Amino acid sequence: MNHKLLPPGATIGLLGGGQLAQMLVHAGNAMGFHFVALDPNPACPAFFAGAEVLAAPYGDRVALAELAKRCDLVTYEFENVAVSGVEFLESQVSVPQGSRLLALSQHRIREKSTLQEQGFPVTPFWIVRSVAELMEAHEVLGLLMLKTVSGGYDGKGQQKITSAAAVEPSFAELSRKAELPFIAEALVEFKQELSVVVARTPSGEVAGFPVGENVHEKNILTLTRVPARINPSVEAQATRLGEQVADALSLVGVLGLELFLLPDNTLLVNELAPRPHNSGHYTQDACATSQFEQHLRAVAAWPLGATTLHTPVVMLNLIGDQLSRMLEQLDRLPAAAHLHLYHKHEIREGRKMGHLNFTCDDPARILETLNSCGIWTPSLLENALR
Ligand code: AMP
Repeated sequence: MNHKLLPPGATIGLLGGGQLAQMLVHAGNAMGFHFVALDPNPACPAFFAGAEVLAAPYGDRVALAELAKRCDLVTYEFENVAVSGVEFLESQVSVPQGSRLLALSQHRIREKSTLQEQGFPVTPFWIVRSVAELMEAHEVLGLLMLKTVSGGYDGKGQQKITSAAAVEPSFAELSRKAELPFIAEALVEFKQELSVVVARTPSGEVAGFPVGENVHEKNILTLTRVPARINPSVEAQATRLGEQVADALSLVGVLGLELFLLPDNTLLVNELAPRPHNSGHYTQDACATSQFEQHLRAVAAWPLGATTLHTPVVMLNLIGDQLSRMLEQLDRLPAAAHLHLYHKHEIREGRKMGHLNFTCDDPARILETLNSCGIWTPSLLENALR
């Protein structure tokens, strides 16, 4: 591994030009870096932040070789890029994140098995290749969440199984969408969903950001509240878990760990994302260093930035037409609400269009303001902010 510090003036390649790339470019411009993004869409979000775009499919070898030639290092911003493409890049240019962690995070069975082998707590699971195996999983684990092994995100490719009668139809439904095997996880009755974003440099410096408390709607992240409503020992336990996973997997860059907090205050790892994470967007306006700057510092072998939280914050995603409703009332944008938009011109259901970081130390005031704009579900806000 090359530990040489990447100096300002260097060019960083981005595999993927979506909103995470866009925000990496915003942070990296201030650090003196230039960016080239490989993305099929020439008008991808990273383009609007000033990256040059190589418009080609992610797996296009000619484009990948061109990216390697034009850049001093390459980083990826999402998991659904083919490992073979990243391996090809690694043969030509420095890819500090590497392809190993990417390969793990693309495959739920490999990810959970590896974490389990290393002694980390994961949701109990069963590998399923047939209806009979799914029935066995139901008998052993009880209520289940049946998931595809790869390709699913934001709750896509998942079936909740709450009775034996649901086993066969759920298996048939998922079989129409994806190949075997599937993974059946015990349906966890968590108290809260938490996440921690942790960074690690090539020389092994590790730092976790404050733990976020997450609320999902239809399996898509709606909001992240920081500080989380958890006791200090859970905060410390989650941070330690993140840092230990980062070390065990030789992370370089940032990693988002999605966690379930159980009623007995123990934690289970649900999922890993070896890149900046949606639940870490709050760091842009509330922390000494954003997760995007931190990721670049890590891959560029700079010392990590401070992760101190300067203010309580609630991050709210703007999904689908929530964006239009937000824009209709821009004239009432509160002073403490910081809007981040992704320059996606087509609004689609379930599509992440932007987010709002509301920095304020009075959750009751945040609740009142957010309720008055009518964009987010009142009961969800009530539960998250009371
Ligand atoms: P995932 O795609 O694994 O991140 O899941 C999306 C969301 O579905 C999670 O944030 C949880 O809200 C829910 N979920 C996923 N797996 C489980 C599980 N095993 N038990 C309970 N809820 C789950």
